[in-house]
Amino acid sequence: MAESSKITPERRGLMFVISSPSGAGKSTIANLLLKEDDNLKLSVSATTRERRSSEVDGVHYHFLSRDKFQKMVDGEEFLEWAEVHGNYYGTPKEFVENELEHGRDVLFDIDVQGAEQLKAKLPDDIATLFILPPSVLEMKNRLKTRATDSDEVILRRMKTAVGELEQWPNYEYLIVNEDLDKAYGQVKAILSSERMKQGRQEKNANLARKLYEDLIEETQNEI
Ligand code: ADP
Ligand code: 5GP
Repeated sequence: MAESSKITPERRGLMFVISSPSGAGKSTIANLLLKEDDNLKLSVSATTRERRSSEVDGVHYHFLSRDKFQKMVDGEEFLEWAEVHGNYYGTPKEFVENELEHGRDVLFDIDVQGAEQLKAKLPDDIATLFILPPSVLEMKNRLKTRATDSDEVILRRMKTAVGELEQWPNYEYLIVNEDLDKAYGQVKAILSSERMKQGRQEKNANLARKLYEDLIEETQNEI
C-alpha cells in the first residue's frame, strides 16, 4: 500500500460550491482560490457541449459524446448530472469521493440543479456560495471588457443570467463582488470557517472529550 493511502486525514473533505450569474466574477474568484489553496481541487465536469477553442479536454471539462455520457449515467458514475441550455453536464463521482475521503476539499462550478442534488446526497459535506455583481450596469461592463463577445452574445448571456440570478435564495452565502480583494477575502473566510465546523474536526472533538474526562479525574482527585 502506498504511504499516502495509509494516512488517516484529520477531517473529511468539503464540497465548496460557487455559482453566479455570468459576469459576476465567479471564475476570477475560483481561479484565485485554486492557485492559492493547495488543499482545494477543482471537480472537472463531463459535458456533451462542444469544446470552445479556449478550452482543454480534461482540464476545463471532459468532453463526451451523448452516447458516452448516457453510458456513464446508466453506470451511476455521476454524483449529479443535469441538462443546462440543451446540453448535459455531470460530476464524475469517483474523483470527488476519493478527494473527500482523503480530507481534500473540492471546488465546484455547477448550476443550481447540481448544487441541489449534491446537497441532497451529501448534506454534511457541502457549503454553497452565490456571487453577485454590484449592479446590472457593472455586470454588463464586465461582460464587455472580458472579451471578444459580440453585443448579441452579451445580451444572450444577460438573458440567461435572469434565470441564474433567480436561484439566489437556494444558497447559504451571498457574496457581492464589487471590490475583488474584499469579495475574495470573504470567500476565503467562509472556506476557512466551514473547514472548522464541529462535524468536520474529529481531532478537536476527540480533544474536547479527552479534556472533559481528564478534568473530571483531576477534580475528583482534588476532593
Ligand atoms: P464569471 O465567471 O462569473 O462569468 P469572470 O470571473 O469571468 O465572471 O469575470 C468577468 C470579468 O469581470 C472579467 O474580465 C474579470 O476580470 C472582471 N472582474 C471580476 N471581478 C471584478 C471586480 N471585482 N471588479 C472589476 N472587474 C472584475
Ligand atoms: P458552460 O457551458 O458555460 O461552461 O456552463 C453552463 C452551465 O453549466 C454553468 O452554469 C455551469 O456552472 C454549469 N455546469 C458545469 N458543469 C456542471 C455539472 O457538472 N453539473 C451541473 N449541474 N452543472 C454544471
